[in-house]
Amino acid sequence: MRSMENHGFGNGKATLDNGYGMFLSMLEYKLSDRNKYLVKVDKWFPSSQICHRCGKIHHEMKNLQIRTMKCDCELTSSRDQNAAINILNGGLRILTKSA
Ligand SMILES: [Zn+2]
Repeated sequence: MRSMENHGFGNGKATLDNGYGMFLSMLEYKLSDRNKYLVKVDKWFPSSQICHRCGKIHHEMKNLQIRTMKCDCELTSSRDQNAAINILNGGLRILTKSA
């Protein structure tokens, strides 16, 4: 929550009130109702810094101004798309570990 506040996702304050926690509870309930899972990925998981293709760490991506990841493995990906794929893969790893 604190990190979302600091990284300027919307209003910041909204992520600290009960609304977000309640949203997660309801989401979890609704998903389990449909035999689906809510998997929470560690908020410190450096999803924007890992090349989703080869796994190389790109420390320069800590700079939020850099919107495109260009990697030695010839991957060129938008920052957010690369992060989304890493989060998906991270979630799948958690899910298959606990299954
Ligand atoms: Zn790469």
